[in-house]
Amino acid sequence: MYLSGALLLCGAVLHGQQAPSGKAFRAGAATSIISPKIGTSNNGNMQDVTIKSIHDETMARSIVLDDGDTRLAIVVSDLCMVSREILDVAKRRASEITKIPAANMLMSATHTHSAGTACGVFQSEPDSEYVKFLSERIADAVIRANHNLAPARIGWGVGNEPSQVFNRRWKMKPGTPIINPFGKEDQVKMNPGIGNPNLLEPSGPTDPELPILSIQTPAGQPIALLANYSLHYVGGVGAGEVSADYYGMFAERMKQMLSAEGQDPAFVAIMSNGTSGNINNVNFGGKLTAPAKPYEKMRAVANVVAAEAFKVYQNIKYQDWVSLSSVQKEITLGVRKPAADEVTRAKDIIAKAKKPVMTSMEEIYAKETMAMKDYPDQVKLILQAFRIGDLAITAIPCEVFVEIGLDIKKRSPFKPTFSISLANGYNGYLPTPEHHKLGGYETWRAKSSYLEVDASAKITESLFELLGKLKTVNP
Ligand SMILES: [Zn+2]
Repeated sequence: MYLSGALLLCGAVLHGQQAPSGKAFRAGAATSIISPKIGTSNNGNMQDVTIKSIHDETMARSIVLDDGDTRLAIVVSDLCMVSREILDVAKRRASEITKIPAANMLMSATHTHSAGTACGVFQSEPDSEYVKFLSERIADAVIRANHNLAPARIGWGVGNEPSQVFNRRWKMKPGTPIINPFGKEDQVKMNPGIGNPNLLEPSGPTDPELPILSIQTPAGQPIALLANYSLHYVGGVGAGEVSADYYGMFAERMKQMLSAEGQDPAFVAIMSNGTSGNINNVNFGGKLTAPAKPYEKMRAVANVVAAEAFKVYQNIKYQDWVSLSSVQKEITLGVRKPAADEVTRAKDIIAKAKKPVMTSMEEIYAKETMAMKDYPDQVKLILQAFRIGDLAITAIPCEVFVEIGLDIKKRSPFKPTFSISLANGYNGYLPTPEHHKLGGYETWRAKSSYLEVDASAKITESLFELLGKLKTVNP
């Protein structure tokens, strides 16, 4: 036992938990390649891109944890977003084989913009063969991690890396008109351009925290590492090339830094997306620099973030056993449907457009308006919370604004707490009601932004209810 009698006699403050007799902590990790076929669709842009080559393999990266009673699975896939349908099928298959309940599986997308399409957004639609392949391969990541279960210890820490995160929504100087594709005026501009003379100030904060969860063998050999950082993605790939973006490069870098290459079973590092709906890697208030070569910037970001992760890693204190629990809830939220006059305007714009590909922003959003006209009035979303000892993870199926994640961290009964976004499905951007008032890209009604204006308040309230339940399980 890690919590020795000697320590207890010394009166040390103990954060570890005593394993109930006969219970052992185990963990397993694995990856499963999910790279799409050449010639199929890549989403993440307003026009579809056809995949020409694979720069680096995209993967579903999985960790399974077992406290002797409860097993949890976390899978983070190199996808821009992934539909609930694909993940529900993956959970069913993984559950049948591993007996881990589907509600104990957290499955998310990293938000790399250079992967196979796994969800219909803008002018990209998933390839039906790829959808089937993905469900199987994401399930396989869990099944393989479960197969690798072995005695383990666990620990965590929280780093701080402010240099790679910037709020991308800016307020502009008075008198700077910001007209959106619906012909109306916004109060903020996304990606306003570096050195734009009309910049006033960013419209919100950033979250520089870098939580790290580390899992090792009892002898201290690395098994897996899960990180979480609130950065949308980096981008900058070769034309038509598939890449896991900085998420994949972070995973590789951690493997090198931990001297965990060539292990059997293989060490798995994972970078999950925090709450980065309005955060990117571009310092708009800074100076213009020479354009980077493909992959140069994402590698630089991965190296900086991995260096901070390594600093945290070296000070992690491990526990031989912690309790695990999960709670999940399905909630119903309203959809922002277009009004009759908005549909009429959209029809007029489409009638004049050159088809089939919509090219101008007005045309693209007119097409989105027509798609949203036929959307259901309400949608169901999965919200989930995992407890790992005194640490909590919340999972939200959206591109979550940073203010929401900061609020959850601040008010959560668990320290630390972090959120994994784009999890268990995809329901578009999640701005706060205040940001809806400001307008801007992330609020523009589309398949990538359609939840009711108060969605974030309802989601946060439900998540606190879930965290409260986890707290009463084992206070
Ligand atoms: Zn996005």
